[in-house]
Amino acid sequence: MALGTNLGMNLGIEGKWALVCAASKGLGKGCAQALVGAGVNVVITARGAEALEATAAELRALGLAEVRTVAGDITTAAGRAAALAACPQVDILVNNAGGPPPGDFRTWDREVWVKAIDANMLTPIELIKSTVDAMAARGYGRVVNITSAAVKAPIDVLGLSNGARSGLTGFVAGLARSNIAGKGVTVNGLLPGAFDTDRLRTTVQAFAEKSGQDIEKVIHDRQRNIPAQRFGTAAEFGAVCAFICSVHAGYLTGQNILLDGGAYPGTF
Ligand code: NAD
Repeated sequence: MALGTNLGMNLGIEGKWALVCAASKGLGKGCAQALVGAGVNVVITARGAEALEATAAELRALGLAEVRTVAGDITTAAGRAAALAACPQVDILVNNAGGPPPGDFRTWDREVWVKAIDANMLTPIELIKSTVDAMAARGYGRVVNITSAAVKAPIDVLGLSNGARSGLTGFVAGLARSNIAGKGVTVNGLLPGAFDTDRLRTTVQAFAEKSGQDIEKVIHDRQRNIPAQRFGTAAEFGAVCAFICSVHAGYLTGQNILLDGGAYPGTF
């Protein structure tokens, strides 16, 4: 029996099928790795086929589960249909997509808002709509929405993210407590703080260039403000995701779990 490689613990989900969106890199990839480590078959998606196939090869090399790929934009109807069609059944749904750009809300028109809401609120809701009733009928299901620490502690320049992701969070708070809760289906949010991924590196690099600072100094300063004194890793993120998807977490639903090395300063 396969063990969760990151946890050394039998998660009890071997042989299940997971759809992990936006998973060629970063946090989505971390989730896919941990799920495959637990013997879960996965369909992984990303826009670019090359990075996606490279990740799939890494996952297949673990020799623990089936790995299928679907290249496409998950924020489009065609991208979602292709992803769903590749998955024999979706027992576990990990919702993820690129985050909206930073900026000043005074410059955002309706089109910009609709794009952000489409990607970070309506896309996960559409995928949930397509999968959750079948999960309930089978008596087991896990939905994990990758959102952001900005849902709990907003960042002013990330207004599009704050808005769209909070909309998703509000919607799933009701869904998680609906009749699916009594049928073995849980719905939770995973809120990343600062994780060492391509996205974080790009943001840090842009900030360093704009402020004329050395990138290593920018990284050092950011890490110093995190009680853990470092960025999180995709493997740590994936391990928590896999645990939420495990049989052990069946009583955990409607929650928003912050993974931020202690950066959020509140008691709760
Ligand atoms: P990343 O850039 O490292 O990886 C993103 C992955 O998503 C890639 O595989 C990319 O191909 C895929 N992708 C992006 N848009 C897609 C789309 N429309 N359709 C299909 N695939 C798509 O990013 P990450 O750091 O892993 O971030 C993942 C999510 O978490 C983002 O929404 C990001 O805003 C959010 N987040 C990240 C951090 C962090 O510190 N890394 C913090 C807060 C929130």
